[in-house]
Amino acid sequence: MALVVDSGRIYLDYAASAPLKQCAKDAWMVAHSYPGNPSSSHEDGGLAANLLSDARQTIGRFLGENYEVVFTSGGTESIILGILTSLEGSWSQSHVVTTSIEHSAVLGLLQRLEQAGVAVTLVDPQPNGVISPNDVANALRPDTRLVCIQHANNETGVIQPVNKVAELLSGNDALLFVDAVQTAGKLPLPDVDADLLAVSAHKFGGPRGVGALRIRPGLALRPLIAGVSHENGFRAGTQNVAGIVAMAAAAQECMNYELTPAGRRHLRRLRGYWEEGISRLPFEVRTISNAPTLFETLCILIPGLRGDTVADALDLLGISVSTGSACHSSEEGPSHVLSAMGLDKDTLMSAIRISFGSSLVEDEIDRSLAALESVVVRLETVAGIR
Ligand code: PLP
Repeated sequence: MALVVDSGRIYLDYAASAPLKQCAKDAWMVAHSYPGNPSSSHEDGGLAANLLSDARQTIGRFLGENYEVVFTSGGTESIILGILTSLEGSWSQSHVVTTSIEHSAVLGLLQRLEQAGVAVTLVDPQPNGVISPNDVANALRPDTRLVCIQHANNETGVIQPVNKVAELLSGNDALLFVDAVQTAGKLPLPDVDADLLAVSAHKFGGPRGVGALRIRPGLALRPLIAGVSHENGFRAGTQNVAGIVAMAAAAQECMNYELTPAGRRHLRRLRGYWEEGISRLPFEVRTISNAPTLFETLCILIPGLRGDTVADALDLLGISVSTGSACHSSEEGPSHVLSAMGLDKDTLMSAIRISFGSSLVEDEIDRSLAALESVVVRLETVAGIR
């Protein structure tokens, strides 16, 4: 059963925040009952430090065992810490290459850094939402210190060829930062060849407000704050032990199921079931079909209607979907991601994002599609489209 938020509701907004896995909730309850600060030298501190150390090992297996892990307060902090740490020491002489479809956590920070003298080049996607590694390579300059690219897009689910970018960067001094917030628990992150990589627990069944930054060991990085002892000097402040333990429990469950071949087959079947159902709807629905895409994220466009109107109507029927990035649902403007892909304004304003996890069942897909059909037929009738 998918998470029932309220009696009968169907939750289809995992890309915004996935439901907390039961194992994570259980782990959080246990860890939260430990009083110690992991930096304290007494026995209670030692017990908290052991919990942290076990969680670090689990997250190490989840992200790649040969890397260092810095626990943070989530995806945004991991991004800020990763980018600022990479550029520390020579802001004004730095050039950064990124893409125009990054999450606002990346784009917003880089806009601020531009004001501080950092040069930034934005690479646009191809019409199918994929960033061309050659376009990234062509944007490099002798002073490029950092390349920032997402692993998969939060609005479209399109997967970026990050290892190809890493290949083109080999021999170059620039570091590669990958925002893997949308792919953690869905794609095997140990396979991603990045110097720095950011994840967030609440996108894969852990709690909100916890994340991690994976760092390749041996990089000459300077911590942002001098004299800090937490997290190997990379982050100041007492760790959120219970949240980190809960994140590790969610990561372990992903390694036990969602990331296994059986888990991937299950998600692919659910995706196929959505796509078949959508193709039978009695109105035009466009999808992004000519790009590698996460099974779990489906961006649909219903020409002639506004996505926010359809999403609101579905909400009234007990179904939670999103238009574009959840972080921007309060903004009226068109999605910067779909705009960069070259969609015209009317088409991109019609976008709806459906995102789900392995607990979704076919009956819920059937009910969601039936609700979508009734909403769209009603709205098209009112709008005089049919
Ligand atoms: N990066 C991407 C691609 C995201 O989708 C999000 C959240 O939606 C973030 C970063 C920010 O993560 P958090 O909500 O943990 O700060």
